[in-house]
Amino acid sequence: MSVLSIGQIQSSADGHRISAPIQMGKDQFEVFFQANETQLTPNPEAFLAIALLPAMKLKLERIEYDGIVSRQFVEGMKAIQQVFRTWKPTYGELDYDGLKTRPDRDCAVGKSGVFFSGGVDSYYTFLSRRDQVDALINIDGFDIPLEQQSMRRRMKENLRLIGERFNKQIIFIETNARQFSERFLAWSFAHGSVIAGSGHLLSPEFSTFYLASFGNPHNMYRFGVHPEIDPHWSSDCAQFHHADSGVNKIEEIQYSGQFNTFCETLRICLRYPEKGLNCGRCEKCLRTMVYLQAAGVYPRMKVFEKPLDLSQLSRYKRLSGPDKDLLYVALNMLEQQNTYPETVNVLRKILYRGSWEKKLIKLGRDFRNEFNKKIKPLKRL
Ligand SMILES: [Zn+2]
Repeated sequence: MSVLSIGQIQSSADGHRISAPIQMGKDQFEVFFQANETQLTPNPEAFLAIALLPAMKLKLERIEYDGIVSRQFVEGMKAIQQVFRTWKPTYGELDYDGLKTRPDRDCAVGKSGVFFSGGVDSYYTFLSRRDQVDALINIDGFDIPLEQQSMRRRMKENLRLIGERFNKQIIFIETNARQFSERFLAWSFAHGSVIAGSGHLLSPEFSTFYLASFGNPHNMYRFGVHPEIDPHWSSDCAQFHHADSGVNKIEEIQYSGQFNTFCETLRICLRYPEKGLNCGRCEKCLRTMVYLQAAGVYPRMKVFEKPLDLSQLSRYKRLSGPDKDLLYVALNMLEQQNTYPETVNVLRKILYRGSWEKKLIKLGRDFRNEFNKKIKPLKRL
């Protein structure tokens, strides 16, 4: 029978590093979490969380762990399994009978934390409940790969500054859990489990965790952080909440833009620029700059090296789903405000592009990809 097995959980003498071998059928992986400035508590829930979806994807049949697991957490895993199986019917179903569970404990109320990347959604999640939040928790190795040393350093400096300005504890948890998860499934599905796993290691010092939604109140897209999933990661001592903002990203920016620190520290870039926080040229940078203009916050922003590049925006290609919906909202707002007429012209062009133009752009992209595939091996010679 193919089995998911969590091996012996190791804790370093100083309590800053927790690791465990995860056996996935025939293959074994060592997963670690490290927090240099805070103590981590070893517990199986962290490793079961990150292994659940890969095990379902591999259609493993049974879970083994030689220890005791929270009853509430095991019930939650079963619920998460059902949600993912409706999204992905090819995923397998695990048998939990081999897990020994403990009854719920009467845990003391601990600190509360927001998982925080410094982007629009997590910033809003934090600022809108800043009086209830004790700490910002950043997972190092999550948005920025561990090998991007320089970018990670800048990111940490930036997050420390945010912590100082708002007088909040900032916790960095470094982990290779993303590398583990991405061997098996898309990060867009797996990331919620890595957040949950990291949170469990901070319990019982922390008992409440907020996961930012992604800025669209009506958005029920299949995604690793989701209102139907997040609460089910909870155990008796650690409660996870999907922090549905109830507003869209532009409204989040309008709220957060009241704070100067937001304007000085926002990081939304998909790339790892050589300096600064945001490249200003990737599609996420471009559309966020449009949202910032629509929200009236753009002139106060200090996180982009250059102003919005309209010729780059006019070449924006991957328009679909919630991003496209929100650019329509931005266009309507900008038309009414009459503040950035050139942006309005470009948005009209890309949002109402004719089908022949879309085909032409696709042809150009396909040709470029083919060309790059052929030319790259030559360059290596
Ligand atoms: Zn960028």
